[in-house]
Amino acid sequence: MSLQQFAETHEVFNQVPSLDGANLYRIDLPLQEWIRRYDGGWAEDRLNTYGALAGGPLMQAGFLANEHKPQFKTHDRYGNRIDLVEFHPAYHELMRTAIEHGLPSLPWTDPRAGANVVRAGLTYLHSQAEAASGCPLTMTFAAVPALRLQPEIADIWVPKILATEYDPRNVGIEHKAGVTIGMAMTEKQGGTDVRANTTRAYPVGIGGPGQAYELVGHKWFCSAPMCDAFLTLAQTDKGLSCFLLPRHRPDGTRNQFYVQRLKNKLGNWANASSEVEYRGALAWMIGEEGRGVPTIIEMVAMTRFDCMVGSSSLMRQALTQAAHHCAHRKVGGKVLADQPLMQNVLADLALESEAALALSMRMGRALDHLHDEQEDKFARLVTAIGKYWICKRAPEMVYEASECMGGAGYVEETILPRLYREAPVNSIWEGSGNVQCLDVLRALSKEAGVLDALFAELGDGHGDARLKAHIQRLQADFADTADIQYRARQLTEDVAVGLQAKLLLEAGNSTVSDAFIASRLEGRGRVYGTLPRGVDVEALVARSTPHLA
Ligand SMILES: Cc1cc2nc3c(=O)[nH]c(=O)nc-3n(C[C@H](O)[C@H](O)[C@H](O)COP(=O)(O)OP(=O)(O)OC[C@H]3O[C@@H](n4cnc5c(N)ncnc54)[C@H](O)[C@@H]3O)c2cc1C
Repeated sequence: MSLQQFAETHEVFNQVPSLDGANLYRIDLPLQEWIRRYDGGWAEDRLNTYGALAGGPLMQAGFLANEHKPQFKTHDRYGNRIDLVEFHPAYHELMRTAIEHGLPSLPWTDPRAGANVVRAGLTYLHSQAEAASGCPLTMTFAAVPALRLQPEIADIWVPKILATEYDPRNVGIEHKAGVTIGMAMTEKQGGTDVRANTTRAYPVGIGGPGQAYELVGHKWFCSAPMCDAFLTLAQTDKGLSCFLLPRHRPDGTRNQFYVQRLKNKLGNWANASSEVEYRGALAWMIGEEGRGVPTIIEMVAMTRFDCMVGSSSLMRQALTQAAHHCAHRKVGGKVLADQPLMQNVLADLALESEAALALSMRMGRALDHLHDEQEDKFARLVTAIGKYWICKRAPEMVYEASECMGGAGYVEETILPRLYREAPVNSIWEGSGNVQCLDVLRALSKEAGVLDALFAELGDGHGDARLKAHIQRLQADFADTADIQYRARQLTEDVAVGLQAKLLLEAGNSTVSDAFIASRLEGRGRVYGTLPRGVDVEALVARSTPHLA
């Protein structure tokens, strides 16, 4: 008998089958239903194609792009300053694939019913594979409405934003078919308080909208600094104004835009975030002078929507991994997904994930119908509500999904640690949690008809007495304006879950809506896995578990 026989320490068993290569659209029944529900059925082939990419090559690229963080090169070997951020090829593959499939352009190039819903669906798939690249993709998409406020500038830039061509070369726009756009508002002394910006803009000629200025100042956060241009804010004599600042001047020389250093971030590793200085950087005024905040808000509203979609996407990927793991992993000879307590946890995560998706998709629908006054007001309010609530729910949910996978969920070979690191950022950038709640109050107090639009959407409970009572409580809460800032988080949360309950009821799957209402409007649990008795947990778990063909 050879000793080698005894040297075999173990046989690998009770490990789950690989999800590598799974089509993230095909395995996602709730996504398919919500896409169809809100007029996106025409794009199912497109979503199917992207689902295969996201679960396959993009997922692989996501691991590589995060393992090999962007590198900042200050100077070339001759000592010339170059301010170059170099990315791993996998990052470029993520960007190229997304741009070629219209993630930053679809609703602008093909504005038919369902276009924003479909784009949200594509983004939802992409961010599951790799979320950090979503930052430049969303900024590029979102820059379009703000740029269009200055038509002669938009004529130059927007066709190249919409060109579905990715060109990462460090050259001027004249040499490129496709461009990407960033956003630089935050300064050291304030991100929320952008009105405290100290960056100054000096007119090169006559000044005014569409005219050239030179900017002197700094920005404390400027993500994706290799973008071709940035919407930014600077002070003129008439106050804070919005500018488009390209990385190259029209004569092809580099602009006076200097990257100081890259941020060393908790997560979001594939994406570079930097500190920058403008030392006489050439830029063009966008929109009215002194109205920089309302101008750039055109962009910010869209990126806030993408934060909702992005966080919903992280939640879905975490759920997919947890449900798949528990469907195959046995403890004490029993499949985890068959154990009552694990069923309670998984079903609870599935509810949270679907409710986040429902609210995001409903926002997409509103963006598809902004010509309708009700939808316009809905979008104004629910951008802030959804951004607050969904982004807040993501980190806790991702953590819980990771625990479903035991030790495996804590190890970098699975995607869970990356999802967990990624989860908090959507709540911080584009206006942090409290800022969203204060924005809800601002919309309600300053914009006529917004509260009516909200209650018109909520309706009378859609035949559910528990939702009806919740809506009545909300009406009373809004009627009482004492201490309203102090109560703004509670109000926002209550509206969010009320809306989610209503959307799930309307969708007609009573297993989902009953469980959501029983747990979110009536339940007592404080962590996931505390669903009350009577919930059809097996059906909820089955609905969220990937069924591989
Ligand atoms: C990874 C990353 C990338 C980023 N990329 C960019 C970028 O590309 N471009 C860009 O311009 N910015 C970017 N930011 C900056 C981001 O938008 C800001 O950090 C954010 O807006 C908050 O600003 P602040 O950090 O100055 O915090 P502050 O404004 O100091 O706020 C601190 C806290 O106070 C809360 N708060 C503010 N006002 C009130 C109030 N009245 N009542 C109660 N609470 C309040 C806020 O909600 C927040 O939680 C990025 C940030 C991160 C983390």
